[in-house]
Amino acid sequence: MAKRDYYEILGVSKSASAEEIKKAYRKTALQYHPDRNPDDKEAEEKFKEAAEAYEILSDQNKRAKYDRFGHAGVGGAGGFGGRGSMNMDDIFSQFGDIFGEGNPFESFFGGGGRSRQRRSGGTPGSNLRVKVKLTLEEIANGVQKKIKVKKHVSCDTCSGTGAKDSNSYQTCNTCNGSGVVRKISNTILGQMQTTATCPACRGEGKVVTAKCTKCRGEGRNYGEEVITIDIPAGVGEGVQLSMSGKGNAGQRGGMNGDLLITIEEVPHEELTREGNNVIYNLYLNIADAALGTQIEVPTIDGKAKIKVPKGTQSGKLFKLTGKGLPSLNGYGRGDQIVDVNVYTPTNLTNEEIAILEKLKEAENFDPYNKKNKGKGFFSSMKDYFQK
Ligand SMILES: [Zn+2]
Ligand SMILES: [Zn+2]
Repeated sequence: MAKRDYYEILGVSKSASAEEIKKAYRKTALQYHPDRNPDDKEAEEKFKEAAEAYEILSDQNKRAKYDRFGHAGVGGAGGFGGRGSMNMDDIFSQFGDIFGEGNPFESFFGGGGRSRQRRSGGTPGSNLRVKVKLTLEEIANGVQKKIKVKKHVSCDTCSGTGAKDSNSYQTCNTCNGSGVVRKISNTILGQMQTTATCPACRGEGKVVTAKCTKCRGEGRNYGEEVITIDIPAGVGEGVQLSMSGKGNAGQRGGMNGDLLITIEEVPHEELTREGNNVIYNLYLNIADAALGTQIEVPTIDGKAKIKVPKGTQSGKLFKLTGKGLPSLNGYGRGDQIVDVNVYTPTNLTNEEIAILEKLKEAENFDPYNKKNKGKGFFSSMKDYFQK
């Protein structure tokens, strides 16, 4: 994929001043920040793209090389700084530079339930997967499920920091507290400087000197949490929902993972789901099919009455409009389709056999007699779905 022009990404002209570039990046980063666009891959890409553009254009040397040689001058088309795309840690460490002390993300997003400590490092928690079984009735109406999950939870003794107390820290010697280390490498285009998360403190800028005894410095313990999941109406087998921050707690204040919920549909005893429609197989005896009757059929929300007209054929479909499932996007609702099957008896008494022997010669019992092929004879499931 071709890389976009760095000036274009930030929406500035080629002659933009350092201040204008900083301003433009600040705006773009705020717009596409992952905290504001959870689970939005496109926003995340734009966010990374802007960070990369800023990394180059904010550095006089790199900017000059970029102006002269294009992307090839600053790491080539395949990479960034010669080591692949920037990772999130790099980007968050960049915020220190552009937002200074008053990093707006601390005030906009800090203090919430979700860990906001990407910048200060820690190791993120892993995602947690659970399966939730739902009946057709639950799917039809949406449902709230409370589930208990065993997982890593933030240590309540040290608030997830892993430190014994607030005095148990010392500034990291490796990075002098900045959380990043700079590396100079020689390339054909001259010296290039790259930054990486400090390996000693994992970007935290400080190291713990005395560990919390409860979590042994991990900042998390194995425990459990009861999580309430709101499941929208209309979900189906295999649909995946996610709750951000509800997965495993990170180590030493790292981001929580997400909870990924996979829906499993419990088969209904009488109704079969077909997309948003629900199919019910109705069995009629020959007499009811021929004479007509009133009959009750099960639906997702209780019984419904159907009038079966006389002369109803096998394969006849009755539609109960709106008795299906709501669509997941909230617009419209499926129908219930009642599929008629005329039941042919298999065990007969001598008396019944005698009656049928008599009837089978009757003209009205001959399916190939022209006058018997009335309306509805050819209706089928296929016709219904093609409408
Ligand atoms: Zn602890
Ligand atoms: Zn360090």
